[in-house]
Amino acid sequence: MSCGEDHDVDCGEILQRVYVFIDNELEDASTDEIRQHLEECAPCLDEYDIERCVKKLVHRSCGDEHAPDALRQKILLRLTQIRIETTSPGPE
Ligand SMILES: [Zn+2]
Ligand SMILES: [Zn+2]
Repeated sequence: MSCGEDHDVDCGEILQRVYVFIDNELEDASTDEIRQHLEECAPCLDEYDIERCVKKLVHRSCGDEHAPDALRQKILLRLTQIRIETTSPGPE
């Protein structure tokens, strides 16, 4: 995935690292790279927000950061649907 802009770090690479970034397992240098990228790249920020929401919801529903994949997928799907619902224009 790419937004068409020229970034220091590739969007695909950022999105791969975002998962680790959320877990705060990256060293500071990489964290800054990601943070900076998210500031200038809306598509990646969107992805990051979804991941953060999933994390929060998963934590709330089972009290465990390491939710089963099925639950995670379900929440992710639900969030995507919500986003589509809120961004699509209503009936005139
Ligand atoms: Zn990006
Ligand atoms: Zn971008």
